Amino acid sequence: MSAIVLDGTKVASEIKEEVAAEVRSCSAAGLRPGLAVVLVGNNPASEIYVRNKVKSCEALGIYSEKHTPSDAVTTAELLDLVHDLNRRHEIDGILVQLPLPKQVDSKAVLIAVDPAKDVDGFHPMNVGFLSTQRPGLVPCTPAGIIELLLRNHIVIEGQNAVVIGRSDIVGKPMAMLLMNRNATVTVCHSKTRDLPGVCRRADILIAAMGKAGFVTTDFVKPGATVIDVGMNKITDPAEFQRYFRDNPKRQEEFSKKGSTLIGDVHPEVAEVAGALTPVPGGVGPLTIAMLMANTLKAAKMRRGAKLQETALLAGRN
Ligand code: NAP
Repeated sequence: MSAIVLDGTKVASEIKEEVAAEVRSCSAAGLRPGLAVVLVGNNPASEIYVRNKVKSCEALGIYSEKHTPSDAVTTAELLDLVHDLNRRHEIDGILVQLPLPKQVDSKAVLIAVDPAKDVDGFHPMNVGFLSTQRPGLVPCTPAGIIELLLRNHIVIEGQNAVVIGRSDIVGKPMAMLLMNRNATVTVCHSKTRDLPGVCRRADILIAAMGKAGFVTTDFVKPGATVIDVGMNKITDPAEFQRYFRDNPKRQEEFSKKGSTLIGDVHPEVAEVAGALTPVPGGVGPLTIAMLMANTLKAAKMRRGAKLQETALLAGRN
């Protein structure tokens, strides 16, 4: 068997088109959504993420601005910036790019973001809204995975779902979203006993652990849907050969760039799974699309536009 590929790039473009259309009508009615991104220091990966976020805003008609304090910024200075952004009416979303430098109290900064502008969905208030099924802002990566499942007509209700990983940004909100949609959810972590055995019970398996190619065929029930959240860069030729020996396209990319991306799921799982997300091109593009959707949602929730809700934004918690 060869798994159906769940194309995240395609679903992300659909979401972005829907958001862009709504941004156009909101802007025409005098409500242009706005996102402020705070990027501290010169972390190259963070710079790329932020550049892509700002570019997406531009493409969709969302106002955006970037704040770039230096690496030496203090907690107090960042709190001042966040409070200032909280006060500004035209800013609907505030995103503080992580990680922050060691001297900064990250938790204090994240909790200072107005929950109504918390487009990452990390604020304890939004975590509480999600767990009690109230409208709020939901973390982008798990929200994007739900969109991917729904738009590919993958049944969630009544299914056994297993989530590997219990982080605040992926694993926990993922489990909550699946439970809210009536899946029977098991959450696994580094202390779970017989991980392959637990995973084999899954109709829907979500791998979010950050371990290259860890999930092999013995973790997967034949025909299961497998969502690979992991994004791991590999540069070691021996490791590369272990995963991509029979993949000429990847071979070419690796010889050109000296690196490639692999998820937490071993490529051989495609022979057992019923459906599988690729890496790259699976979960990654959905995260940014949902950030755009969250910015629009925040604008509408906070500024109370009496504009028609789309199915996308009408409470998919
Ligand atoms: P994280 O905070 O490091 O959490 C990893 C989780 O995996 C932890 O709960 C950990 O368990 C669990 N884990 C680690 N090793 C394990 C093992 N051997 N067996 C079972 N569980 C294990 O990571 P994260 O932020 O959730 O991210 C996970 C992955 O997703 C990373 O590769 C990240 O780059 C990727 N990611 C991708 C996107 C995207 O847009 N595509 C977005 C976010 C994250 P403990 O709690 O017991 O330590």
